[in-house]
Amino acid sequence: MKKYDYLIVGCGLFGAVFAHEAKKKGKSVLIVEKRDHIGGNIYCEEQEGILVHKYGAHIFHTSNKAVWDYVNQFVEFNNFVNSPIANYKGEIYNMPFNMNTFSKMFGVATPKEAERVIEEQRAEVQGEPKNLEEQAISLVGREIYTKLIKGYTEKQWGRDCKDLPAFIIKRLPVRYTYNNNYFNDRYQGIPVEGYTVLIERLIEGCDVRLNTDFFADREMFLSLADKCLYTGTIDGYFDYIYGKLGYRSLRFENELLDEPNYQGVAVVNYTEREIPYTRIIEHKHFAFGTQPKTVITKEYPVDWEEGMEPYYPINDEENNALYARYVERASKEPNVIFGGRLGMYKYYDMDKCIEAALALCEKEL
Ligand code: FAD
Ligand code: UDP
Repeated sequence: MKKYDYLIVGCGLFGAVFAHEAKKKGKSVLIVEKRDHIGGNIYCEEQEGILVHKYGAHIFHTSNKAVWDYVNQFVEFNNFVNSPIANYKGEIYNMPFNMNTFSKMFGVATPKEAERVIEEQRAEVQGEPKNLEEQAISLVGREIYTKLIKGYTEKQWGRDCKDLPAFIIKRLPVRYTYNNNYFNDRYQGIPVEGYTVLIERLIEGCDVRLNTDFFADREMFLSLADKCLYTGTIDGYFDYIYGKLGYRSLRFENELLDEPNYQGVAVVNYTEREIPYTRIIEHKHFAFGTQPKTVITKEYPVDWEEGMEPYYPINDEENNALYARYVERASKEPNVIFGGRLGMYKYYDMDKCIEAALALCEKEL
């Protein structure tokens, strides 16, 4: 006899939201997670009284009130607003692209002056932008593209800006106001107790097995439940039968420093090509920490190879077409649902991940 209604592979945000909703509907849930902790990429852990985001900076932001209310049932959020700094060869600029950036870069003071400079510089792009380079130049002009976008993007994605889809850069706001808020969303913050507590509360009442790779014995795991929600890589599930989807990976280098304030802000982007990391995170600033020490993390982008963590899907045309073939194959797997950033091969932020999980719950439960 099957012991569980649902087997969930992966204890990230998507799996945890589904687990919570299933439990609420009286379903029994087993979660298997290959890492030695819950939370997937939003996992945080305390060091010297500082909450460290172990897989890169995670700032919660959304314009969806239902999603905001949903997470606030479980944890309280602080009033952190992300305002990163870009460092280009020692020159400091405010991000995202706004009047503070334009003023420093072009020596202008008013929106009209800034618009005039950018208008001139974007004239080189004719028609609809065909790739990230053209999109970036048409948004902010060649100078900002060269100093703040080109190097960062080519490090992050491991390829030329001409070979990247335009939508990646459209994530960033461009504003003709003196406003350094990285996001346009209505709601923003970081859980006061950290994201791991959010996940703990979501999965309350579920059985969880850590250090457990589904692929170690997939038939046995599938036999434990009526249905499976799988949140690992979809191409991995099918043993890469049609070929491998593209991902970017990251290497995080953490340092504990015996000083109270290393960079004065949570995130500094290093936008020149020559510095191998893309950003340095100083974790205490996410929570306005005043501890005597500090923890910083350098984030190095790396080419993904099997065995590494696939952090970012590369949603170019070729990969999206390959993904469509896997979706077709997945539709023939009636008792397995594919979810989350890896199962759906989508560059989801946390709020979009929750939206997608709740939409699935609506349909499934
Ligand atoms: P994951 O967190 O990847 O969870 C999937 C889980 O499945 C993992 O724990 C994995 O170990 C497990 N798993 C996979 N295969 C198996 C297997 N075979 N057996 C058992 N377990 C398995 N979003 C924001 O909103 N704001 C941000 O500031 C932000 N910053 C980010 C920074 C970085 C560097 C990255 C990579 C992402 C960022 N995100 C951010 C996105 C956010 O991390 C995701 O939206 C969210 O974590 C997705 O959750 P998930 O459950 O889909 O995936
Ligand atoms: N980006 C950039 N310069 C920066 C920050 C971002 O060119 O200083 C570009 C880069 O291409 C990146 C994209 O904008 O991939 C989206 O940035 P975001 O911070 O949203 O990326 P994520 O948080 O997903 O790593």
